[in-house]
Amino acid sequence: MDIQEYKGIFVFVQQVDNKIASVSFELLGKAKELAKDMETEVTAVLLGYNVSGLCNDLARYGADKIIMVDNKALEVYATEPYTHSMCKIIEKYKPAVVLYGATAIGRDLAPRISARVKTGLTADCTKLEIADDGTKNLRMTRPAFGGNIMATILCPEHRPQMATVRPGVMQKIKPIEGATAPVDKFDIEIGPDHQNVEVLEVIKKVSNKMDIQDAKILVSGGRGMGCPENFKLLQDLADALGGTVSSSRACVDAGWVEKDIQVGQTGKTVRPNLYIACGISGAIQHLAGMEESDVIIAINKDESAPIFEVADYGIVGDVTKILPIFTEEVKKAMAARNNA
Ligand SMILES: Cc1cc2nc3c(=O)[nH]c(=O)nc-3n(C[C@H](O)[C@H](O)[C@H](O)COP(=O)(O)OP(=O)(O)OC[C@H]3O[C@@H](n4cnc5c(N)ncnc54)[C@H](O)[C@@H]3O)c2cc1C
Repeated sequence: MDIQEYKGIFVFVQQVDNKIASVSFELLGKAKELAKDMETEVTAVLLGYNVSGLCNDLARYGADKIIMVDNKALEVYATEPYTHSMCKIIEKYKPAVVLYGATAIGRDLAPRISARVKTGLTADCTKLEIADDGTKNLRMTRPAFGGNIMATILCPEHRPQMATVRPGVMQKIKPIEGATAPVDKFDIEIGPDHQNVEVLEVIKKVSNKMDIQDAKILVSGGRGMGCPENFKLLQDLADALGGTVSSSRACVDAGWVEKDIQVGQTGKTVRPNLYIACGISGAIQHLAGMEESDVIIAINKDESAPIFEVADYGIVGDVTKILPIFTEEVKKAMAARNNA
């Protein structure tokens, strides 16, 4: 393999029902930064059916070029036709880097592709940078051993260098209004050999809850809440503030709350304007998902809890006593503000 032949940064665009996943825009933003250091371009790879309407959005969020495969067989995500298409694209266009979101789809797809094209893949990265030692290799950093060490991994002799990246970690760019990008429509034959799995039905779970990654204010509970019933105290504060409730893994493992509100390394990465950690000790795996929040308030009865190391404001005391008072004060302040 002549690695010099491989150029450009490709971002796999995840779309479901012709709606682009937020992580794909985040990856385009990051790719734009990396492309500057690599002196190359960002290409969005869009697979699906009747997806041409999505191209302008990709350009607005930083794609210099778009490769689109529009095929009925790609309407609903399935491992084989997507793997086949991505491998054909890699074979033809020879990218230096390919990035995927570390979503259920990305985590399913990327290892298949890396095995087929015989290259390296780093899973669930939280940091990407270009080596400044002249090689311009991609340095892919991810938490390992339960988040106790950060591993920086290179793929120096194979191309493309591939990574799945945690949703919520990278930043989207401010959309460039009116931006367009040339679209290369690539026709790929997807025959019965590439479709051994038939999707009979897609069952969608209907949720009217806000995704914690979109929330501006999170009121988060940990084991220190004592019991699931006490989550009502968090909901009351969240309602008063116009926020959303999230949690540590301990509460998910205990069956108190659903996994989709878990913050942390094996949950979601959040970056709200305000994160209120209630009865959360601040284990490294939890901090990994929330320490970039703009303002952090911690309530914990143990003054030596590690959460206080990242907190902007801390209250030492019993959360079940403090929360009702906190909520009352917020309500009063809100009422005063609304009357002003
Ligand atoms: C591979 C791996 C991945 C992981 N991924 C995640 C993850 O994604 N997210 C995550 O959160 N964890 C994760 N963990 C688990 C993590 O290590 C911790 O076990 C977990 O975060 C602890 O949750 P907690 O802070 O709610 O509970 P604890 O650590 O038990 O802390 C409870 C806190 O509440 C305080 N407290 C108790 N009672 C009160 C009270 N009445 N008032 C005020 N404070 C009180 C205590 O002082 C204590 O600090 C992971 C672990 C591993 C090994």
